[in-house]
This record gives sequence, structure tokens and C-alpha cells, in this order.
Amino acid sequence: MKFYEDNRCLLRYGTAKKLIRANEYLLNLGFKLKVWDAYRPLSVQKIMWEFVKDEDFIAPPWRGSIHNRGAAVDLTLVDLKGNDLEMPSDFDDFSERAKINYNCCSIESIKNRELLAEAMIKNGFRRIKSEWWHFNDEEFEKYDIL
Ligand SMILES: [Zn+2]
Repeated sequence: MKFYEDNRCLLRYGTAKKLIRANEYLLNLGFKLKVWDAYRPLSVQKIMWEFVKDEDFIAPPWRGSIHNRGAAVDLTLVDLKGNDLEMPSDFDDFSERAKINYNCCSIESIKNRELLAEAMIKNGFRRIKSEWWHFNDEEFEKYDIL
């Protein structure tokens, strides 16, 4: 589903610098990051909430999410040609398969999910239990909702 007018990826400056370092770490291993979602205006949060209405997967607009602060990213791994690497689920698959401890999938997809997490955590991000693709800047509390 498409929620944005254009495909610019916006983040806080500090968060963007961490993301660049994570990408450089992966480039050395022959991979790179593909970003699906970053800063998310509250107007988009409201639309997404209408679709999902499950706090395990999306923050209600009245509370706001770390995406609304410009300090969270949803992303995956691709090879240097831009081909998606196998992961345990698709993006925004709101099921068990999205959880970071889900292991009823191929070894390859677990390896890829953990490599993504390693690159992000080493460079200043924290993962959440419910979505393998979502990472918060560990310093997100510095930033208010925009
Ligand atoms: Zn997210």
C-alpha cells in the first residue's frame, strides 16, 4: 500500500548518520539497506492506524510512534544489485512471522534477519520484538514528535 506523495526518506540528522554507518558496515559484506519507511507524518499515522488498529504493530495516532519523531526506520537487506534477500516474512506482515524470535522459516531467512539486526545494533539502533524490519534510534527520546 502506498501512503506517500513522493518517495523521499526523511530522518533526524543523527539517526541518518547512524543509518549511513550501518549501510557502510553491510557494503563491506556485499549487501546494502533498502528503506521502506522512515519519518512518518501524523497524518499518515492516522491512515495506517485505520487499516491495522493493533497496538502490537502500530502506535495509535494519539500516542504517536517513533516514526513520527523521525527516529525509526523500517528496512530490509538487498544485494549490491538491489535484489531483496530472503526474510522470514514480507514487510508489514502482521503475523507471527514478523516477530524477531520466529524460527519456523528457512535458515537463510533467519541468517539474513540477524545480519540486518547486527548491522543496525552495532550502529546505534535497537530492535523491537514484534517486527524484524523496524529499528529505533537508541537516542529517540531526544526527539519530539514532529
Ligand atoms: Zn516501523
